[in-house]
Parts: sequence; C-alpha cells; structure tokens
Amino acid sequence: MKKRKLSLSMQIFIAMLAGAAIGAGIQLLGNPEWATANLVNGLFHVVGQIFVRLLKMLVVPLVFVSLVTGASALSNPSELGRVGGKAVGLYLMTTAVAVTLAVTAAVLFKPGVGAQPEELQSQTLIEQPPVSEVVINMIPDNPVASMADGKMLPIIFFSILLGVAITMSGGAGRNIRQFFENLNEVIMKLVTIVMKVAPIGVFALIAKMAATSDMAAIAKVGKYMLLVFSMLILHAVVVYPTLLTVFTKLNPLIFFYKMRAAMLFAFSVSSSNATIPVTLESVEKRVGVGNKIASFIVPLGATVNMDGTAIMQGIAAGFIAQYFGIDLSIGQYITIILMVIMASIGTAGVPSVGLIMLAGVLLQIGMPEAQIGQGIAIVFAVDRILDMTRTVVNITGDATVTTIVAKSEGELNLETYNDRTAGLAYERGEALPQTAD
Ligand code: ASP
Repeated sequence: MKKRKLSLSMQIFIAMLAGAAIGAGIQLLGNPEWATANLVNGLFHVVGQIFVRLLKMLVVPLVFVSLVTGASALSNPSELGRVGGKAVGLYLMTTAVAVTLAVTAAVLFKPGVGAQPEELQSQTLIEQPPVSEVVINMIPDNPVASMADGKMLPIIFFSILLGVAITMSGGAGRNIRQFFENLNEVIMKLVTIVMKVAPIGVFALIAKMAATSDMAAIAKVGKYMLLVFSMLILHAVVVYPTLLTVFTKLNPLIFFYKMRAAMLFAFSVSSSNATIPVTLESVEKRVGVGNKIASFIVPLGATVNMDGTAIMQGIAAGFIAQYFGIDLSIGQYITIILMVIMASIGTAGVPSVGLIMLAGVLLQIGMPEAQIGQGIAIVFAVDRILDMTRTVVNITGDATVTTIVAKSEGELNLETYNDRTAGLAYERGEALPQTAD
C-alpha cells in the first residue's frame, strides 16, 4: 500500500502542539535549571533562531528577483500604477476597519478598568520618523545598501524600476528577463528546501515560547489579552471572508485552507517579513495568483499593511488610558485611529515593532511620557503570544488583498484556486518547476 505523506502544514501543526506541550511541561516542572540551560536557552533557542535566519536569508533575494521578474512581465508600466493604487487603497481600508473595530471594542469593554498588572520598569520611548522622512526613504540612495539592511520599500522601488527598464530594452531586455525568470524559479526552490525543515524550527520556537511565558503577568491583564484575541479572530473570520466574497465571489474557505501553511509560519516566527517567502509561495502556487501581481503586492503588504498590529494598538491605547484613569475624548480616539493607520505604513513587519509604534501614537494624543513608558512596559510583558497571533492576521490581510487585486486584473488562475491539491507537491519539493522554454 502507498504510504500517505502528511502535508507540510499538518507536520508543522503537530510540531507546534508538541512544542507547546514540552514547553508547558518544563514550565510546570518549575523550569529546572538543567532544562533552562540545555533546552530552553540551549537547543530550542539555537534551533529556533537558525530556522528564523534561514527564512530571513531568503527574503531580500526573493523579493528582488521575484519583483524584477514580475515588473518585467508588465505589458505597460501604467498597469503598475493601477495595481499599486488598488492595493494601497485596500490596504488602507482594511487597516482603517481594523483599528476602528479595536478602538470601539476598547471603549465598550474597558479592558484597563480594574486591571492590576505589576509595576514594571518603564520602557524608553523611540519616536517615529516624520512622514516626509518615510517618503524620502522610499527612494534608495544606494540599492545595495538597502538590500544589505533589508529595507523593503527602497528594494521594492528599485526592483520595479529595473523590471520596467528591462521591458523597455528590447532584445537585451528579453535576455535579462529570461535570466531573472529562471533565477526566480531557483530561489523559489530554495524556499521549498527551507520549508522542509520548518516542523523542527517551529517545534523549537514554540517550545521556548511556552516554557518562558510569564503566566502570572498574563493572568493580570487577561481582559486586555482576551479582547485583542477576540478582535483579531473577528477581523480574520468576518472582515476578510466578506471582502473576498464581495470583491471576488470566491469561496473564502478555500482561501483559508490554502493559506494555512503561511499562517502557521507567521504564528511561529512573529514576523510578516520573515514569512514573505512562504506567503509568496502559497499565494502563487496554491491560491493561483500570477507572479506579476504577487511579487509586488505581497512584499508591499508585509511592509505597509498590518491590520493585526492596528487592532492591538487600538485596544492597547484604550487600555493604557483607562489604566491610568485618563479620559480620552472622541477627538483623541479619532486621532488614535488616524495615527495608527499612518504609523503602520513606515514600519517593517518584524517582531514586536507594533509596540514601538504605539509609543509614537500615544505621544501624539498628548499622553505624558512617563505614563506611556510604564503603559508600554505593562503590555510588553504579555506581548509575545499577541505578537504571534497578530502577525497571522497581518499576513492573511496581505494575501486577501493580493487575491482581490489579482482577480480584478484577470491574474487569478481559478483552476488552481479550486484545486485542493494545487501546489502541494511543489511545497513538498516533489514537483520540478516548469521551464520557461
Ligand atoms: N510582528 C508583526 C509583524 O511582523 C508586527 C508587530 O505587530 O509587532 O507583522
């Protein structure tokens, strides 16, 4: 009888449960010294970090090569403006919905009233750069330096221009385009190689998280956490499926089914950026979005679209104000909504960055610095698991918008979308990519 192989997402899911069980077991045993030294801060830490680095290692080459390939396939550069416009519009809209939901929930359910978190050492505040800086910084003064630093927006800008120039360069451009197309397939193959070790990496990351989570601190701000979780789930299971149904008339359940590997990755590594390779792979090979659209909209979303983060910020702002007994006016709540939308644009999708942005938002509404520092410290203490969960929402939002834009541009392969098994063999590294000739 033929042995049925477990799908990659199933393997990751099992690894996640096993990691959680082992980590929780270590915590229940009172974190014995040998386990902390050899496992939690030893084996789990090393293996987890190696896995995160393997993923991060792929991000810059993949975004660059994939985007040059995508942009050089455009028949007309004006297509780019239209596609970008649609994506940015949808990204802003979903973030606005997310933060409005969050602020409303914070006002209605008052998570900060009666909370008794521990007094924690105040966090130092890092100010957000002004919007003008963010815009200027989108243009690289040295593309190689931007790549070395992993600065996503300048990389996107340069890759698109290079792709457009390739289209406009006739015969010479055609050869270069062929080269990038082939290189893109090779790098995607590299993604599948890294994905093979994902179950081990995920196990280590989750085990360390479960062993080191501060349960006592979590219990003290339980209402805040519960509210953030509930709004994240609401946004993911109501807003995205509604948008998909309204704009594309596709069955949203299939979308979630196909995106599950990327969602598990995002949860484990807490970073939209590090998840880009898997999001791109899922969106292209499993959902059926053309490379031309996916290579542009996915990295853009990982950088500018953070609905899950916006939800945490909206609720945390209300929580901190309520905890310190500060009465926020409607005007201040509206400022929070606008600031959160703006703040999400200039910040990369990396772990915990949402809290740094929150400090900037609270400064804008005139909250005293000492209280912001103290307030951020309180939510920071319980942020790990929230960060993991909101990153799932962040990348699901990116993929939703990418799918909607692709459908509207006729760049979604419906056969792939409706085929349950599409891309599975590729994900397992069994199928060879088609050669371009
Ligand atoms: N970890 C999140 C992301 O990478 C950002 C954040 O909310 O801190 O998408």
